[in-house]
Amino acid sequence: MSKKLFITTDTQRDWLQKLEKYEDTFKSYSKEVDETAAFPKANIQALVDIGYTRLTLPKEYGGDGIRVTDMILFQETIASFDSATGLSIGWHQGVVGELYEKIIWKEDKLRTFANEILNGALVNRAASEAQTGSPTRGGRPGTSAVKRGNKWIISGQKNFTTMSPVLTHFLVSAWVEEKQGIGFFLVNRNSSGLSIKETWDVIAMRGTESHDLVLDRVEVTEENFVEFSFGPRSSNINGWILHIPACYLGIAQAARDYAVKFAIEHSPNSIHGSISQLPNVQRLIGQMDLELMKARHFLYSTAAAYDDLSRRPYITNELAAAKYIVTNSAITIVDQAMRIVGAKSLQMSNPLQRYYRDVRAGLHNPPMDDMTISKLAQTAINEAENQ
Ligand SMILES: Cc1cc2nc3c(=O)[nH]c(=O)nc-3n(C[C@H](O)[C@H](O)[C@H](O)COP(=O)(O)OP(=O)(O)OC[C@H]3O[C@@H](n4cnc5c(N)ncnc54)[C@H](O)[C@@H]3O)c2cc1C
Repeated sequence: MSKKLFITTDTQRDWLQKLEKYEDTFKSYSKEVDETAAFPKANIQALVDIGYTRLTLPKEYGGDGIRVTDMILFQETIASFDSATGLSIGWHQGVVGELYEKIIWKEDKLRTFANEILNGALVNRAASEAQTGSPTRGGRPGTSAVKRGNKWIISGQKNFTTMSPVLTHFLVSAWVEEKQGIGFFLVNRNSSGLSIKETWDVIAMRGTESHDLVLDRVEVTEENFVEFSFGPRSSNINGWILHIPACYLGIAQAARDYAVKFAIEHSPNSIHGSISQLPNVQRLIGQMDLELMKARHFLYSTAAAYDDLSRRPYITNELAAAKYIVTNSAITIVDQAMRIVGAKSLQMSNPLQRYYRDVRAGLHNPPMDDMTISKLAQTAINEAENQ
């Protein structure tokens, strides 16, 4: 079971070939990245150097204009090599894809920022805070933006800022008192008053260095006050967020491949041949592949519906459902892979124990499972009431 069934274009084949050249290198760093919780800078730089980070920028802005389907194919591939690299670069790919597809900023700003992306800029949203929790819950940011003359002064502290060691730009959410709503400000890494507080001390996705971003009266010009809304952003349909499930699908694939290889090679002296011939092991292998098929088909079917503009209007909760299904399947698959490998899966030298920890992070990336289930229920009830 692999992603091959979903490869349909030459662009996809070309890019997968380019990425596969990095498989061994990325995999060779994973253990150290995890153990030392050190950001995989060399991997990200390699991706910037081959032009990967301009893929989701539309062609009219100088990028490659790939679709969501292409993005998830590449993202699951990178994540299967190294989880932290996958999740980190996924945020940049997804943010750029969304900004330019939805034309969220003014045209001038999109143009100037496109040039920065073409020159290797890396961007991510810094939207979470200790007090508000997930921004998708609608909490008001504690970070504030106050107008002084022709500048905005931003103060506050963000947590979970993935890729903090290498981001050149932070899209920071802040409460704009004078407008009584939430703004996003494009903040340059070199801004005076901006610093990274190294708080990332977790068991999963350790290499993402998702530290706190501290803003101490950071001055931002009016043109960098790029987005404003009265409510949370999560109400918009945004297919680019599918980079998140793609990441966890990639980790699940890596765990499954490891376990199947182990099963055909492991030959204890209580049996003839390998454990892959045993019914108990085959049952687990079959169950893993069933989960993987279910997850991948749902994810790619949702991406295809999003990419097809005539079908996109009919998407209701499929994007959230894809995240739910893939993340939970990925957790199950890693668990089953570990049951196949047995106690060796717990050794610190074994990648499965890392996948086991990393894949759990998916539960705490948006949208959260309870919100998805409640949205499905609300939609069903609304539809029934309006019939
Ligand atoms: C690996 C990783 C990378 C991340 N990267 C980024 C990033 O780059 N940028 C960024 O901005 N964020 C990032 N995040 C943060 C993420 O988007 C969430 O904001 C964060 O995980 C907090 O979500 P939470 O559900 O754990 O916390 P909370 O929202 O505090 O929730 C804690 C608990 O309370 C419940 N709860 C809280 N509020 C409500 C409510 N209103 N209704 C019902 N239940 C509620 C939740 O269900 C949960 O059980 C990242 C997170 C992880 C794990």
